[in-house]
Amino acid sequence: MAQSDMSTPLLDPQDPMESVPLSVGDPMVCILGSGDFSRSLSSRLRCCGCRVVVGSRDPQRLPPGLFPEGVELKTQRGALEALAEAEGSLVFLALYPEHYPSLLTLRPLLSGRILVDVSNASSLKQEGLSNAQRLAQMFPCSSVVKGFNGLSAWTLLTGAYDHSRQVLVCGDCPSSKLSVLALAQRLGFGAVDVGGLSASRALEEAPLLLFPSWRGPLLTTMLLFSFFYLYIALKNVLMPFLDRAENNLHHLPLITVNQALPAVALVMLSLVYMPGLLASVLQLYRGTKYKRFPDWLDQWMCARKQLGLLSFLCAALHAVYSVCLSIRRASGYMILNAAYQQVKAGVVDSWVETQVWRSDLYLSSGILGLGVLCVLALTSLPSVGQALNWREFTFVQSGLGYTSLVLSVAHVLFFGWDFAFLPRAYQYYLPPVFLLSLVLPCCVLIGRFLLLLPCCSVPLNRIRRGWESKQNKPERERQENGAVFGDV
Ligand code: NAP
Repeated sequence: MAQSDMSTPLLDPQDPMESVPLSVGDPMVCILGSGDFSRSLSSRLRCCGCRVVVGSRDPQRLPPGLFPEGVELKTQRGALEALAEAEGSLVFLALYPEHYPSLLTLRPLLSGRILVDVSNASSLKQEGLSNAQRLAQMFPCSSVVKGFNGLSAWTLLTGAYDHSRQVLVCGDCPSSKLSVLALAQRLGFGAVDVGGLSASRALEEAPLLLFPSWRGPLLTTMLLFSFFYLYIALKNVLMPFLDRAENNLHHLPLITVNQALPAVALVMLSLVYMPGLLASVLQLYRGTKYKRFPDWLDQWMCARKQLGLLSFLCAALHAVYSVCLSIRRASGYMILNAAYQQVKAGVVDSWVETQVWRSDLYLSSGILGLGVLCVLALTSLPSVGQALNWREFTFVQSGLGYTSLVLSVAHVLFFGWDFAFLPRAYQYYLPPVFLLSLVLPCCVLIGRFLLLLPCCSVPLNRIRRGWESKQNKPERERQENGAVFGDV
């Protein structure tokens, strides 16, 4: 069966986490199954002072030293009897769900126990009941709790005791859930109750999801990159070749990529701030903040962090590529050729003051823009973001974010300098790519400026503090009155 379980730890009986000496008062936990998960969980349980009994179909078959010292190995029936004797209630099913029916003969011994289902889904969006719900149907006299399935056997064995890993737990019996939550905390994990057993499908599928929140932003980045790359290749490589047989194919691996990357970074950065502006305009237009945004805008707002991080990635790659430009063999040849041409033309001093200013301003604004973007990326890390209060976070994400957008736009403008006004910039009727990449950022900056004007910012602030325009009030009041009269 295909599984998402990340790793198979090699348990070294000489060097697992150190076991704590047993005492009769320690709680006993039973684990059915003797595979990877069972071994790691039993190690962790032993280190945290729990007594552990493992039930296997054939305990004789297990090689000595497979489980840490102090773990009792018995048959499945024997393990459950030992658990009953010790008045323990927790039974972890470290088996694949298709093997659950093999436990039906043990139903009387499992009755009244808490069955912890640690299994994961084998594929996404399966029809019917989840593994945990099917287990609950099979054992109606037991209480089924879903949990621990998000932890790999490796994490169980090695995870730090810093509550950074969470165990999500769900189940229909509150007291059973509390027992599992308490055990998770005892093992050093953060424990979160996510509701009834109906939430189990989401928990089972969670380990199978592949960057769900990154899909849209990644697709946007790839589409933008493909567009700019192909556009530049068409303008600077294909058209000159068809037009005058000029061979610029060597541009494709480095120069074209390095021209596309900043364009993507700039557009992505403006996409971070665009939905906020649209939301403000919508609130101003509706005269209330109590109406839901359309779904697409909601989703766009939720993707801002990912868009920003991908923008940072493109900008950082552009910086590395740009540094490497000068060490290319081609640039060595170009400098030599230019020097030769200069000598031939008898030019002694090639210093052009405006070009010096242009390149220094261009480089400086780019470096500063990247630096600020780096701060933004760092504050998006949960550990850093959590250390900031609301005002600090808004200052960094909004204030510094716009600063980085302004610096990036300045970087592109200094790069373009007067080039946008020269006819050769529009060869083959195609505008230069830096001009295209400026359209969206400039719209965002102009939009932001307009929203800062008192005629917009004053009503917007009032709306955000709960004020509503007249056309919204009667409707709400009617609804409220209707509810009151209806109740009466
Ligand atoms: P595993 O190493 O294959 O162990 C499964 C155990 O099930 C075997 O050791 C065996 O124990 C028992 N078993 C095998 N065939 C059986 C059968 N026909 N009937 C009854 N029992 C049978 O698997 P695992 O990695 O420990 O995973 C066990 C469960 O934990 C799965 O549901 C998995 O989704 C979940 N999980 C695993 C991980 C992980 O990282 N490994 C992480 C999260 C969740 P005996 O021979 O001793 O009976």
